[in-house]
Amino acid sequence: MSARPKRIEDFRKPDDLIVVTGAGGFIAGALVRYFHDKGFRRIRAVDKKPLSDWYQRTPGAENVCLDLSGRDNCARACEGAAEVYQLAADMGGMGFIERYRVECLRSVLINTHMIEAAWRAGADRYFFSSSACAYNVDLQKDVHSRALKESDAYPANAERGYGWEKLFSEISCQEYWAERGLRTSIARFHNVYGPHGTWDGGREKAPAALCRKVLEARDNGSMTVNVWGDGTKTRSFMYIDDCVNGIDMIAHCDKLVATPINLGSSELVSVNDLLTIVEEAAGFKVRRTYDPEAPQGVGGRNSDNTMIKRVLGWEPSTPLRAGMAKTYRWIEEQFNLRRAGRRTVV
Ligand code: NAD
Repeated sequence: MSARPKRIEDFRKPDDLIVVTGAGGFIAGALVRYFHDKGFRRIRAVDKKPLSDWYQRTPGAENVCLDLSGRDNCARACEGAAEVYQLAADMGGMGFIERYRVECLRSVLINTHMIEAAWRAGADRYFFSSSACAYNVDLQKDVHSRALKESDAYPANAERGYGWEKLFSEISCQEYWAERGLRTSIARFHNVYGPHGTWDGGREKAPAALCRKVLEARDNGSMTVNVWGDGTKTRSFMYIDDCVNGIDMIAHCDKLVATPINLGSSELVSVNDLLTIVEEAAGFKVRRTYDPEAPQGVGGRNSDNTMIKRVLGWEPSTPLRAGMAKTYRWIEEQFNLRRAGRRTVV
């Protein structure tokens, strides 16, 4: 890999219409800001939540509230689009995806209508946010499981509900390219974290949940955090800035058309390690109790970044400590605002 990876500005003019769905949520909200900061002037940000519940609203973006599980709304969302980034999904952390498998599966409606709408609108590129949950769970039983490479999704045995939906929607992307010539990209995100993510309410993931629990432990005086599982499960976590950068490069790499690729950090930690990192950010220690009955997912999961390094000469590299320090500070701010009676979205 010698040439610099191409990015959106290599293909698009500042007034081309970029559509980002799920934009009231964490990653797509950050993606809208990223394109805006690059100078794109026409960004349509779409989400089904009322605007007041969006995690971020970027000035100048056309913010539209539409439920994208319906065909006509997808057609409206995609009208005139040069590029479409489809990140809308009914999802959350382990607690959500293990409990609401039907809701997760129903995101197939969004993905099925969105890709058809993007194709009918004549969009030049279509990005789909898949997940590491699409990988065969048998390869992830052990906390020391080897890192997952792209071919490990088959033979298929994805995470029930959420993972199977992602796998099916990946196939849609591959066939819309093969049969209809829509240039699709598919990134399998591994746990993403950072400021402006969900931190309370049941959909939050481990990094944000641990930050909040540490803050609550200090606030209620117990100085105790209850950890889901026994703390030994391993994962990698990608900082949000790496995620949006990676999306841009993957979506504009012609070698990756219709080709699923990992987008994740390869810095593997246990849940106990992650809590220690949160304690460092907080500047104090907590007592740990463990809940073996709580949802905890597979034993171990890491991202094998051989392919992304080979194709893009790049991989997500924000150190977990640095990213978690920023994330903790942001959640602390939200926590204090809420405590002071000022409503903040979670
Ligand atoms: P998020 O929950 O913060 O954002 C998703 C957004 O989609 C929400 O704002 C939600 O309101 C919206 N949405 C849901 N149903 C919709 C509908 N019918 N119409 C319109 N909007 C709808 O989630 P996120 O963490 O930002 O994830 C974005 C994408 O990345 C999702 O596809 C998710 O599956 C994928 N992903 C995320 C992670 C992660 O660690 N956050 C990991 C793997 C994959």
